[in-house]
Amino acid sequence: RVNRQDFMMALNEVQPAFGVSEEELEQVIQNGIIHYNASVEELLTTGKLFVEQVRTSTRTPLVSILLHGPPGSGKTALGASIAQASEFPFIKLISPDFMLGFTENQKISAITKVFTDSYKSPLSLVVVDNIERLIDWTPMGARFSNAVLQTLLVLFRRRPPKGRRLLIIATSSMRPILTDLGLSETFDSELRVPPIADLKSLEHVLVEVELFRSDNERRRAIGMLEQAGFAGSGSGLDAKLQIGIKKLLSTVEMARQEPDNVAERLTSALMGLGM
Ligand code: ATP
Ligand code: MG
Repeated sequence: RVNRQDFMMALNEVQPAFGVSEEELEQVIQNGIIHYNASVEELLTTGKLFVEQVRTSTRTPLVSILLHGPPGSGKTALGASIAQASEFPFIKLISPDFMLGFTENQKISAITKVFTDSYKSPLSLVVVDNIERLIDWTPMGARFSNAVLQTLLVLFRRRPPKGRRLLIIATSSMRPILTDLGLSETFDSELRVPPIADLKSLEHVLVEVELFRSDNERRRAIGMLEQAGFAGSGSGLDAKLQIGIKKLLSTVEMARQEPDNVAERLTSALMGLGM
């Protein structure tokens, strides 16, 4: 027989275990996902395959993948988006943005708690965002929090208890340092999130965000970029366009502030990025 005390205890156990941090996920996908080229679709599809693997295969209770790419290429939003689409009963985002001002120990317990909670749900997904910032990596002198790193190393490899399954999606802009930190063998798969590198993709984004009042104006802007030599990848050695979607979107918003000369403002801002 289950008495009230058992019941309350069970509640306490279950409550933190299940749950999806919808708000956190939505916050990092603020600007939605624009399907500006095939690589976006490909990343989402591959992510979905791992989700299905964890959902259906009993042989792989733990799968971890790494999304890596240059700053602002869209890693966090893609990871969160794959997580959201999974519809797993437990989804949590571990982000350095939510740990501002935490001491090393507070960070370690917060990270550990998310994983411990995940073990109580049959199907869980944990996004570990921006590994280098989580471990407080500083390029100067290559310093970082070894204690947080060790915690991650252990948690990334720990199999969930019997009957539980977990998918870990980590992100990083500093793929090369992960090898030195001993983190690279941890992942079952690594997916590169590339920056936007051709004018066709860039134009796709411009259409989507409705920056220009007319198609003509937009084409004029693209023409200006073309003339400036931003022919884009696949067009030879002088392909120079390299911009993360995050930066592109903020550049667009900047150009939007003044309705006149949007094309000039956009192109000069993009050129100023030193692509
Ligand atoms: P950082 O290197 O600073 O961590 P990031 O690579 O994690 O940056 P995000 O923080 O994910 O980049 O920023 C991407 C932004 O672009 C988000 O606001 C997201 O909503 C928007 N976005 C639009 N289309 C896409 C897309 N196809 N892929 C990813 N993000 C997109
Ligand atoms: Mg990020």
